[in-house]
Amino acid sequence: MKDIILITGATRGIGRAIAELFLNKGFTVAGIYKESDSLANELVEKFENFVPVKADVSKKEEVERAVSLIYGKFGKIDCLINNAGISEARLLQDETEESYERIFSTNMKGAFLVTKSVLPGMINKKKGKIINISSMWGITGGAMEVLYSASKAALIGFTKALAKEVALSGITVNAVAPGVIKTDMLNSLSEDILSELKEETPLNRLGKPEDIAGVCYFLYSDSADFITGQVVSADGGMVI
Ligand code: NAP
Repeated sequence: MKDIILITGATRGIGRAIAELFLNKGFTVAGIYKESDSLANELVEKFENFVPVKADVSKKEEVERAVSLIYGKFGKIDCLINNAGISEARLLQDETEESYERIFSTNMKGAFLVTKSVLPGMINKKKGKIINISSMWGITGGAMEVLYSASKAALIGFTKALAKEVALSGITVNAVAPGVIKTDMLNSLSEDILSELKEETPLNRLGKPEDIAGVCYFLYSDSADFITGQVVSADGGMVI
C-alpha cells in the first residue's frame, strides 16, 4: 500500500495545494478541516483517494476520533503535515485572553494534539515524517501579529525538541517557514499592502501555495531522510 498522508487544514490554501500534490502523485490523503464541507466534497469528487475528516484540531476528543478513524481505515499514517492555522492581526494591547486562546489553541495546541495521537503508530513502525507549517514571523517576529508570531515560534521549538525525542524511532520532524503566500489568510490585506509586501520580497512576487507544497514533498521524500529538526524557509528571500 502506498503511504498514507495526513494533512490538517487540507481544504484551502497551502494545505489544499499540499493535498493536491500528494493526490496527483497517487498517495492517499486524509484531510482534516474545520468547516468547509463543500470544498472537502470538491476534493472527494476530484480524487478517489482523498478522505475528508471534519474535526477541530484544537479539540482533543475530535482529534482523537479523527486519528483513530484514519488508523481504523488504513492501519497506518506515514506522514503528518500539521498545517491548520489561523492568523489575527491587531496591536498587542488589543489582544484578549480569548484571542490568545483562539490563536494558540489552533496553531500550537492543534499540532500538539494531532501529533500526540499520530505518534504511537509511527513509533510502533519505527518510521514516519512529521512536517509542521510555521511561518517566517515565527523566526523574525511580525508587528501587529505578536501572538501569531509567538504561536509559530512555539511550533519551531516543538519541532526541534520532538525531532530529538523521536529520532531513534526513525521519525523525522521538520518545519517549513512560509513567507507571504497568496491564500484566504491574506484576504483582510488591501491591494496596497499586498504590493508593498511583494516589493519587500527579494524575489519580487508573493508566494503561491504550490511553493510550499513542493518543500513539504521534499521533506517527506527519501531525499530528506537525513534532515531533522530543521526549519526550511520558503519566503522569496524575505528573511535572510
Ligand atoms: P487558509 O487559506 O486560511 O486555510 C486554513 C486551513 O486550515 C483551512 O483548510 C481550514 O479549514 C483549516 N483550519 C483552520 N482552523 C482549523 C481548526 N481549528 N481545525 C481544523 N482545521 C482548521 O490558511 P493558509 O494561508 O493556507 O495557511 C496554512 C498554514 O500556513 C497556517 O498554519 C498558516 O499560519 C501558515 N502560513 C501561512 C502564510 C500565508 O501567507 N498564507 C504564511 C506563513 C505561514 P476550513 O476550510 O474548514 O476553515
